[in-house]
Amino acid sequence: MEHNNITLIKNIDLTSDDLTMKLKIVRLWKLPDHINKREVYSIEMILMDEEGTKITGTVSKRFLPKFTHLLNENIIIFVIKPNFGSVRSSYKYVDNTNKVVFGSSTKVERCNVFNGPQFGFSFTSFKAILEHSADEDLSIDVIGEVHDLQPIRTFLNGEGIVTKQATFKIQDLKGEVMSVTLFSEYAEQYIDYLQKHPKEVRFIVILQFERIKWFQAKPAANTSYNVSKLFINDDIEEIITFKKSFIENKPWGYFGCTKCYKKVEPLILIDDKPKSIAEFDEPTIYRCTKCLIDVRTPIPRFRIKIRVQDHTGVVSLTLFDREAKKLLKVSAKDLIGSHSKEAIQSNQEVSVFDDYPPFLTTLLQKKFAFKIEISRFVLDHSLSLYGINKISVDDNIISQLSQKVDHEQVERSYEVTVCLYGNDISIYAITF
Ligand SMILES: [Zn+2]
Repeated sequence: MEHNNITLIKNIDLTSDDLTMKLKIVRLWKLPDHINKREVYSIEMILMDEEGTKITGTVSKRFLPKFTHLLNENIIIFVIKPNFGSVRSSYKYVDNTNKVVFGSSTKVERCNVFNGPQFGFSFTSFKAILEHSADEDLSIDVIGEVHDLQPIRTFLNGEGIVTKQATFKIQDLKGEVMSVTLFSEYAEQYIDYLQKHPKEVRFIVILQFERIKWFQAKPAANTSYNVSKLFINDDIEEIITFKKSFIENKPWGYFGCTKCYKKVEPLILIDDKPKSIAEFDEPTIYRCTKCLIDVRTPIPRFRIKIRVQDHTGVVSLTLFDREAKKLLKVSAKDLIGSHSKEAIQSNQEVSVFDDYPPFLTTLLQKKFAFKIEISRFVLDHSLSLYGINKISVDDNIISQLSQKVDHEQVERSYEVTVCLYGNDISIYAITF
């Protein structure tokens, strides 16, 4: 059944006992009874409305038979005639002093449509955490890339149960770093992911409903038992966007001449009788302005821009077709897939190369040694645009290079060697 008068969380009116709310159950957990731990004392929830505002919800022991079967994580419900209690604990999972109480007059109905966020993340920047400007009595969501995974610790907890603990660091897009400790089920989830993905070298994690703890003047995000949520490399918007932001967005290639490497331009044929584009069902013909030839089937080629930053500034590198192909072990054409021929014939260059294949983010987790060329034009105009001449993943070359640059005088030069460690780039000018 649909309901017309939906009250948003921000508009909750405590004087009314006849509200209807549409809420997604973002998180649901059961609190055990203090005395008999096998018995459920209450159901606790984090609920979210279509604006992404969150509130906690609770079903007390008395009403468990009435509601338990109606409530599940990730479902959407209408809550009719909820009651509202105040949140007593000083530490809060969401920024709201009220909570939804499912009581005697409350009704719950299932709903299938929800025009709100999927998970309701609200990320806190590491900077805010490090500077103590984040509210530490409120749970936080963080996203970052995993570094420095420590050996997994196994120990007996207070109840004598074997428990695991995983500790690592996460780095955000600004390069800020903080520690993370996963306990019990979250540590198990992480270990399980590692075992199932032995070839994966890059881990982007989201930790939702985490608690900030300070240890030796350093902040750490700790999992809250049962409440926290851990996402590892999931195929969700926030993680894909995080991965992408290491690469300067689009386009990642172009249609190239069959003889040279130059980009071809579509030819607009002028007929005796003008035709609209829709009527124009002939395949597009392209022209190379260098070779002065018409090209019917240009070759899709890579031209990937990588934007990276270190303490000296931001630099853009361009990875051209030959080196990209060598590195990715796939051609631009293969990456476009079966759509390639049709895209060429109907002149869809822009849409094809604007659509960023997530596969390209695999470029980013390895160590690279780059040999790059800087043209006189780039130098004269102080442009930070460097074309990659050669790229290597050879450990020897990389370590030789980093030793070399430590001792060399950094100078302005026509040839520059760049060392890329993971996502951090250091650029060093070396005189050859
Ligand atoms: Zn050409």
